[in-house]
Amino acid sequence: MQEKGTISIHTENIFPIIKKFLYSDHEIFLRELVSNAVDASQKIKRLAQLGQYSGELGDLTVEVSFDQDKKTITISDSGLGMTAEEIKKYINQIAFSGATEFVEKFKDAKDANEIIGKFGLGFYSAFMVAKQVEINTLSYQEGATSARWTCDGSTEFEISEGDRKTRGTDIILHINEDSEEFLDKWKLQGILDKYAKFLPIPIKFGTKSQSVEDGVDDKGEKKWKSVEVDNIINTTTPIWTKSPNDLKDEDYLAFYKELYPMSEDPLFWIHLNVDYPFNLTGVLYFPKVKNDFEFQKNKIKLFSRQVFITDEVKDIVPEFLMLLHGVIDSPDIPLNVSRSFLQSDGNVKKINNYITKKVADKLAELFKKDRKVYEEKWNDIGLFVKYGMISEEKFAEKGKDFTLLKNTNGEFFTPAEYKEKVKALQTNKEEQVVYLYATDVAKQDAFIQSANKKDYDVLVMDSPIDSHYIQHLEMKEEKTTLKRVDSDVVEKLIVKDDGYANLLTEEQSTQVKEIFEKAIGSQTYSVAVEGLSPEEMPVTVTMDEFMRRMKEMAQMGGGMSFYGAMPDNYKVAVNGNHPLVDKILKTESAEEKEKLAKQAFDLALLAQGLLTGKDLTAFVKRSVEMI
Ligand code: ADP
Ligand code: MG
Repeated sequence: MQEKGTISIHTENIFPIIKKFLYSDHEIFLRELVSNAVDASQKIKRLAQLGQYSGELGDLTVEVSFDQDKKTITISDSGLGMTAEEIKKYINQIAFSGATEFVEKFKDAKDANEIIGKFGLGFYSAFMVAKQVEINTLSYQEGATSARWTCDGSTEFEISEGDRKTRGTDIILHINEDSEEFLDKWKLQGILDKYAKFLPIPIKFGTKSQSVEDGVDDKGEKKWKSVEVDNIINTTTPIWTKSPNDLKDEDYLAFYKELYPMSEDPLFWIHLNVDYPFNLTGVLYFPKVKNDFEFQKNKIKLFSRQVFITDEVKDIVPEFLMLLHGVIDSPDIPLNVSRSFLQSDGNVKKINNYITKKVADKLAELFKKDRKVYEEKWNDIGLFVKYGMISEEKFAEKGKDFTLLKNTNGEFFTPAEYKEKVKALQTNKEEQVVYLYATDVAKQDAFIQSANKKDYDVLVMDSPIDSHYIQHLEMKEEKTTLKRVDSDVVEKLIVKDDGYANLLTEEQSTQVKEIFEKAIGSQTYSVAVEGLSPEEMPVTVTMDEFMRRMKEMAQMGGGMSFYGAMPDNYKVAVNGNHPLVDKILKTESAEEKEKLAKQAFDLALLAQGLLTGKDLTAFVKRSVEMI
């Protein structure tokens, strides 16, 4: 019995097209064929459970092997097999709605997944690496005979009698010249490790040596010998398929080490498990995150029924959760379609929301359970939580209860607690509560000291996300503004009443202003004489909060190029009530006046960390002369 026919697809020859367009992803042929073998094995199991198959199930291990001389790769399973009729039905009639549509679509396809999934071409991905494909199969059905199908990559195929004696299927690939790299142990092992490591049916690939007992020697000591044993490459029940109740911390940590051998232990983890309204399981780990965003990305692996699909989960996981590590497995994520489709897919949106909620709940639970421990972890999770607060409204709603603000004394507060703490002392005359913050505790020390002297509290906002988080806080907290502690003299940071009067006359003020302008001699600084406490510094150099933020944003590419192009502009506040100003006014020599003014100005720059280079050298020299 032999039969010839034509694969029912009306385009002349789709295989050259497949080969050409799917070039970059050739290795996925193995994923497709191994998962077909696994599907066939699971189907026979299921049929047995349903009582529709009463034969022995036997060993269902799927075997992948290769022959360098014959140039073949073979994938064998003991699954349900196919009859000749079924081959014609499932293999020959390529499952897509029309050749025309296919040809239309492949033109825009970016990767193999897109075409393979959409058009049910999993099996045909074999032709990316094979010049001829052979199926040798025996169906589980009573009285079935073995069937062999061969196809050389054209639309012609041949069906004849096969010689498979036991239930199941061999897929034999005759590897083409361009793909001989796949006839290599390490290459194949690598691909299997990537895609098949957690498949639910054991996958055997070659052998490995193992030490086994070999009787005893003359002294009665055990003897050992090395034997070749089957190399099963996968774990069939990875932890995400198990119930959280059956798992211990060690299990989660061991799995993490298996996924990321080089990483430090994670901080904590979340076991995802939902089956309605979509099906999703997984384990997400919180890694120790430092400041490096990019470095941490692409650490979540996406699976579909334990088949690895991708570690680019960009559209499935909310942006801020991309810092997490771990696995997500969902048969409901449409894996094989284009990204734009993913974004508009309803399930994806729901999955997104679900994960966000789970993560927020976990953090809330940790915060409630042991606040001390949570605070200790804040350094590592703070960046991530703030990122979530800013980027996901849903997360922000819950997150405000477990976000922490840290002050310069190392104490932690939730935003609500913090407001309670500073409200009384730090409310200005416009009824705004002013939070002060430092971005560099060492550099801004002089300003922090001044603020502390007034019993003001100063927050530490030194992570890369903080400039955004500050704006978020101002938006969320009513009647609250944040000011960097060095953005003005302390009296002006929180103006409660009209403060000290400037004891100088208008004429004296003008005179002082001119002396300083001359001494400074730069447009970058605008001088103002103000009435401050005589205890404060004679001169303070500050940069306006608003201007600074605009500049920072322009630098980060916020599109405000107008501000980015502006030169730095500092305010120089001369304390009209300071004894030094009085001294300057009383000094006779104009040269001496200017020298004093310059010295006071340089001291202010020094406190801000702005005095560098030649100016610093000149300052030191002048100071030595003066003492
Ligand atoms: P899909 O797996 O998405 O159905 P494929 O192109 O990978 O699409 O396979 C087409 C069909 O061929 C499968 O649905 C199955 O019926 C049949 N098939 C493929 N490989 C095997 C196998 N190893 N054993 C039994 N049937 C198979
Ligand atoms: Mg398939």
